[in-house]
Order: sequence, then C-alpha cells, then structure tokens
Amino acid sequence: MPDVLVPEAVMTWGPRRLPVPYAAHWSGEGPYGRRVTMRPDVAGVWYLDETPADRDAFGVLWARVQAAPGDGRPDFPAMHPARQRRAQAERLCQVCGESASHTQDGWLFLMNHDGSDLYEGAKVTKPPVCVRCAVLATRYCPHLTHPVGVRSRRPKIWGVFGTLFTPTPNAQLKPHVDEYLPYGHPVTEWFLASQLVVELKRCTVVDLDAELAALT
Ligand SMILES: [Zn+2]
Repeated sequence: MPDVLVPEAVMTWGPRRLPVPYAAHWSGEGPYGRRVTMRPDVAGVWYLDETPADRDAFGVLWARVQAAPGDGRPDFPAMHPARQRRAQAERLCQVCGESASHTQDGWLFLMNHDGSDLYEGAKVTKPPVCVRCAVLATRYCPHLTHPVGVRSRRPKIWGVFGTLFTPTPNAQLKPHVDEYLPYGHPVTEWFLASQLVVELKRCTVVDLDAELAALT
C-alpha cells in the first residue's frame, strides 16, 4: 500500500507523527464549569451557571469540554463536542478542518461497508471529509475496517447523540449513555448532547482511489 501524504493542515502527534483528526478529543481537554444537575423549577437538566451558549438553536444542552487541541495525548476514538458539531454543521473535513469535498454527487462521508450498499437515511456522527483525508483515514483509522466513500446530496441535520438522564425516585439523575435523539423530541429537556447527528439523503457510493487519482 503506498504511503499517503499527510495534508499540511492536519495535526500530527508523537515521534511517528501520527495524523490526528481535527474533531478528535485530546486528553488535556477537560470539562469546565458546573456539572449537569436537575432543574428545581421545571422538568429537565441544566447547568447552575448555564449561559445561552450552552444550548443550541433547538434548546438542547451541550456537554462542556475545554478547547485545547494539541494538549496532552489524542484520544482517537473520542470526538470533541464543539469541533465535531462545527464540522457537521459547517461541512468541514473532520480530519483537516478545512472544507469537506463536495461534487455533483454531494458531500463526501466515510463509512464502514455494512454488507449492503444501502446508506440512504443513515444517521452519522462522523462529519464529512475531503478526498485526501478520506484516503488518509482509510490507511490510518483502525475503526474503518471496510471503508467506503458515500456522497450525500442532502445531508440533513437530524438531531443529537449523547446522554439521556432520567430522574430517580430519590431525586437523583440516572444517565443513559450513547443515545440518539431527534430534534424536537419530548425528552429534549433531559438530554445532554455531545455530538451532532446528520442523516444522509440522496446517497451515491464512490470510488475513493479514483477520486484521489483525479485530484493529482
Ligand atoms: Zn481534510
């Protein structure tokens, strides 16, 4: 397998200069402010020191994580909530942080081949990519066991991924992690988002190597 050039905009780490995705979480990026607690006035969760910036336009509360990319070690499987959200919303490449690839077939996403070729309606937490970073990720990312490039003409903001809290009889909060919540759902007040979820519509499977060859 030929070496793949790491685009200049991609951060690297360690003596082997491993490429680190823009959206990846670093160990030096800890939580800040007060923790999530139950609201005393109405049903739901909040931060005691909450500000308008803690919720998105749909009223969903977001996890608070300091932004200090490059601080500590990269935590490759985890994504930083603010950078993941920005990349999804603004269609930035999740690896280099610049514009993701867009052609007449739509925006480029990387997925694992699931045995079918049916990606229509897939709900994804991984932001889009540019072609160079897509090829880079297929070489470096251990989670992409059967990588496939999927272009979506209409990636639609669908909802959030994160933790749903339920109140216990003794007024404690019970967390249910790794839940998906569509925007507008009635339990929104009890949700703490950590990733923005996009639904892929009007999908086409593409040949990444051919797309890379066309670039060079
Ligand atoms: Zn990129």
